[in-house]
Amino acid sequence: MNDQEFGFETQAIRNQLERTQYLEHSVPLYLTSSFVFEDAEDMRASFAEEKERNIYSRYSNPNTNEFVDKICKMEGAEAGFAFASGMAAVYSTFAALLKSGDHIVSASSVFGATHSLFMKYFPKWNIETSYFDINKPETIESFIKPNTKILFAESPTNPAVDIIDLELLGAIAKKHNLILIIDNCFATPYIQQPIKWGAHLVVHSATKLIDGQGRVLGGVTVGRADLMKEIYLFSRLTGPALSPFNAWVLSKSLETLAVRVEKHCQNALQVAEFLENHPKVKQVKYPFLKSHPQYDIAKKQMSLGGNIVAFEIKGGLEAGRTFLDKIKLCSLSPNLGDTRTIVTHPASTTHSKLSVEERLAVSITDGLVRVSVGLETVKDVIADLEQALS
Ligand SMILES: *Cc1c(COP(=O)(O)O)cnc(C)c1O
Repeated sequence: MNDQEFGFETQAIRNQLERTQYLEHSVPLYLTSSFVFEDAEDMRASFAEEKERNIYSRYSNPNTNEFVDKICKMEGAEAGFAFASGMAAVYSTFAALLKSGDHIVSASSVFGATHSLFMKYFPKWNIETSYFDINKPETIESFIKPNTKILFAESPTNPAVDIIDLELLGAIAKKHNLILIIDNCFATPYIQQPIKWGAHLVVHSATKLIDGQGRVLGGVTVGRADLMKEIYLFSRLTGPALSPFNAWVLSKSLETLAVRVEKHCQNALQVAEFLENHPKVKQVKYPFLKSHPQYDIAKKQMSLGGNIVAFEIKGGLEAGRTFLDKIKLCSLSPNLGDTRTIVTHPASTTHSKLSVEERLAVSITDGLVRVSVGLETVKDVIADLEQALS
């Protein structure tokens, strides 16, 4: 297959493992922990890494290879490794590349578990993190020190849907010789490819829009081959590999990523427009609404606005909780990027342990509601939000 000639959807559907002697149409599940060798010499050469082949599923497996290969093509990456969860991808990527005394510069508005890694665990190994405000990108360079090794951000952010200019991050990373890592979970490679803007590595929680149906956990890191080699060697030792079953599910999911994401984004835009005109709503944040503070940057680096809409309900904390209690159709769940629309109220749940000041520093106001818009008939979703608001 000449990769350059095919479009995104064709790649996602036709880029698959070679057929076996059974001539199956859909790729089978290789549920095997290990692989056999022809003879002693084959085994020796395989372990010496003179051959590229599957040895043991902690290292690689046909199903995980197919999944990684597709993500690499979608992101424009040289190599990758698939993990049991998004957090396994985030942790292993940092752990493989950093040593004691290194320093990270990160946006402060990162996924909660990533924040805990930076603040609670990495300091145990003498790895410090400095946070910049994602809405003040002009301050980023002031945090860079001689021992800074990694620049990290998510865009759009969770849950406030802030956007940062990836081209600017790429330029800063280049100037200071940093490894730029972008968590591209909220956009997916269908909407945004950070490597195009200068990222060296892209991490994903495949649990979200990549699975898209709320079934399996998964994660993946892709990017520059030399960095991926380090991450691979660390991961094949420490064992965070994605299971072949989940890889098989996720690779199938990628076949429909484009149509799902298109529809998610259409629905989300309609939900955002509805909310923007509602009298009980103070403010709506959606990348492709003209009112988004970084609308121009969103338009530059994203082909669609994504499926997450954040809005500020009038009446603060209590109004947010009451709104959740009134929801009938949508789900109250911590997941996102599912076929089912999900609403959450970060100030009283995921971010309740932070002080008001800490929450405001990452754009989480008391009345902030996050909607992960699903694939239901959008008028039904809007009707549910409307009855809950009134
Ligand atoms: C969910 C999420 C993760 C963690 O992924 P898991 O698959 O839940 O481990 C990391 N980053 C972002 C932005 C996420 O939304």
